Amino acid sequence: MSDVRKLARLVVDVALLEAKVGRLEKCAGESGGATYAPPDWTSEDADDQAGWFAELRQWVDEVLVPEYGPLPWLRACWEAHRRCWWELSILQAGWGNAYKRNRPDLDAAITFTDRLLPGVQSRLNECLSPCGGARGCVARVRSVS
Ligand SMILES: [Zn+2]
Repeated sequence: MSDVRKLARLVVDVALLEAKVGRLEKCAGESGGATYAPPDWTSEDADDQAGWFAELRQWVDEVLVPEYGPLPWLRACWEAHRRCWWELSILQAGWGNAYKRNRPDLDAAITFTDRLLPGVQSRLNECLSPCGGARGCVARVRSVS
């Protein structure tokens, strides 16, 4: 193959790659690029914590329980257990990465369903099972709200 033909073929390959990259960028833009991460509950800022907690409670009440319930492992006193804030925040962030976008992200949805939800369920079950719940919560931490 002559050098001119090789160069012409290379130009075509580059054009095809540019078109492919453009389609991928468009797809990424349509799906939304936001990523969510859990808050750092060690923050000393009470206003930050109150805001995060309000968002977490709202997500639990409006998304987690209605869409994924019944959740017997999520006792009513979860708000008093600081470890639950950490665990549920991870779950909330994972859900956000899957669904709070222009189009749901399949990989993030699978991660949420197959990895995050069972893991948090297991850890919260371990954390909350010794608690008396409505009969007497063992947590010392009170809700920040
Ligand atoms: Zn409790």
